[in-house]
Amino acid sequence: VKRAKKSGTLEVYRAHVLREALKRFTLENRLREAIDCGQLTMVFQPLINLQTGAVKGFEALARWNDPVLGQVSPAEFIPVAEESGLIVPLGRWALCECAQTLADWDRRFGEPLPLTMNVNLSPVQMVRDNVPRAVEEALRYAGIDGSRLTIELTESALISDPDKTRQLLAALQAMNVTVAMDDFGTGFSNLASLQSLPIDLLKIDRSFVTDMIGDEDKVAIIRAIVSLAGALGMQTTAEGIEKREMADALAALGCHYGQGYFFARPLPPVEAYRYWVDRSSSTMI
Ligand code: C2E
Ligand code: MG
Ligand code: MG
Ligand code: MG
Repeated sequence: VKRAKKSGTLEVYRAHVLREALKRFTLENRLREAIDCGQLTMVFQPLINLQTGAVKGFEALARWNDPVLGQVSPAEFIPVAEESGLIVPLGRWALCECAQTLADWDRRFGEPLPLTMNVNLSPVQMVRDNVPRAVEEALRYAGIDGSRLTIELTESALISDPDKTRQLLAALQAMNVTVAMDDFGTGFSNLASLQSLPIDLLKIDRSFVTDMIGDEDKVAIIRAIVSLAGALGMQTTAEGIEKREMADALAALGCHYGQGYFFARPLPPVEAYRYWVDRSSSTMI
């Protein structure tokens, strides 16, 4: 009886593994097709100056709406892209799309918009691709100045390949590209490497912001990150601001920028452009 039970469990386990593998395989193949056929899109979430209310720029976030699978979240397809190597074409597409979108907005507006575009860079792409070259090509092709681009890296990049990260950041700095450390506070980057690298911004992870109201520990962590950033000559952006109280509290803590549903959800390009136009005309008056 014991034996039968054991092999029964094994069967269930095998079926599960097989199902997961099949799902992975399907996801990977469909993602490859989506990249090849230009089915991915970008949405843009405003980054707000918490002290003045002005729109500083946008973070570009990839979206995939598959005809069969429906809307697949980046939390699901980015890891698949990283494991399969598809992150290289995906990341190149993301860079080009961001630069092109900025160029489109500039044309529409009649002059370069005073805003920056943030794009996420996977640590896997950093290792597998020639990122400085990809950045340089995307900017040149769209005719966009490097100073208008911000690359968001995660702390895992510092850990997985510190030398490569150092080279990459130096190359980006030479192109006047801004570098932000994404999801800061969730990784394990050591302070020495943080201090010795040309990083301009720390993005305070959403997990500290989400329930900061009434949580003294969360507030203490945010205060410490803002103070650390200040001491290292960096600025801070808080992500996941869902309520006015959070924006006010973060501004009072000296945090420079913020993003979150309270200001706006990630928007399709035309709506993002309109958001900027409406918002900047109202803050200028
Ligand atoms: P991230 O870079 O930390 O991006 C912020 C995430 O928080 C986005 O999720 C955004 O939609 C979400 N968010 C913004 N404001 C709020 C809020 O007020 N409340 C809540 N609950 N969430 C908020 P999204 O778009 O699902 O992206 C998830 C992650 O996937 C990103 O985290 C980023 O690491 C990755 N990702 C997205 N697009 C790309 C891409 O083009 N390339 C790479 N390498 N990674 C990407
Ligand atoms: Mg990001
Ligand atoms: Mg983030
Ligand atoms: Mg995050």
